[in-house]
Amino acid sequence: MTHHPTPNRRLALSGLAATGLALLLRSPAARAQDALLSEDDPGAKGVAYRADAAQVDPARNPLFKPGQQCANCSLYAGEPGQPQGGCGLFYGKEVSARGWCNAWERRPG
Ligand code: SF4
Repeated sequence: MTHHPTPNRRLALSGLAATGLALLLRSPAARAQDALLSEDDPGAKGVAYRADAAQVDPARNPLFKPGQQCANCSLYAGEPGQPQGGCGLFYGKEVSARGWCNAWERRPG
């Protein structure tokens, strides 16, 4: 892999800073929307993620059992009562508390 010369790198870093600033200036709701994992994300598709567990087709997802959702999955890191939160599978993204994927694991306790 080749490294970019310094000027390009500086440009890239200032671009990142501008992007970060733009994200900070957006409303919390807009930022929550930005963070939300899309069902079309390749990683999401890889585990058959649906933002609404009620939309999971049991015929195509034999692992799915009614009642399973991100909010009661051991990989979910969201706060109780919040509509979305982090997931151990998707770094930097958030999943819907009502979502589901085929990596669902019962939360202990
Ligand atoms: S691993 Fe768990 S919390 Fe993450 S998307 Fe799948 S069901 Fe939801």
